[in-house]
Amino acid sequence: MNESLRVLHIVEGTSVDGPGLRTSIYLAGCSHHCPGCHNPESWNPSGGDDRTLDQLMEVIAYNEAPVTFSGGDPLAQPVPLAQLVKRIKKELGYNIWCYTGYTWDQVMQHPQLMEVVKHIDVLVDSPFILNQRNTKLRFRGSNNQRLIDVQATLKNHAITLWHD
Ligand code: SF4
Repeated sequence: MNESLRVLHIVEGTSVDGPGLRTSIYLAGCSHHCPGCHNPESWNPSGGDDRTLDQLMEVIAYNEAPVTFSGGDPLAQPVPLAQLVKRIKKELGYNIWCYTGYTWDQVMQHPQLMEVVKHIDVLVDSPFILNQRNTKLRFRGSNNQRLIDVQATLKNHAITLWHD
């Protein structure tokens, strides 16, 4: 069976969603509904188009670049996303970032979400909070959001932030 993901759009060669030039894949669906969300159109889980994992792997491999998943909340589609991140790591070995409106603690308590997150490099966690908005932050929108080095955090059993 070739699983698919609901994709809003793909931006190739962007530098705004993580370090370096990356392939950013924006996935449909978000249940967090943060006041002040930059993209409420992304909340609809039926938005965008179906792309098979093979089609997405083809785009990612063609760009030969690290990958960022944003949205929406990519963790709204955990089962196919877990398969895709596993394939990216196994077949291409690329660096992977993922944005989510869940906190790290919420992700840790949810085995399906952990199936995705354990294979990635950086999780940008927590919902956007309007009164903590800070336009000077790199790669995130509000002060409560964190750039979490996932592999170091799992190893240390304590949240370890990513540094360039
Ligand atoms: S998690 Fe992101 S996409 Fe979802 S409502 Fe909050 S800011 Fe918008």
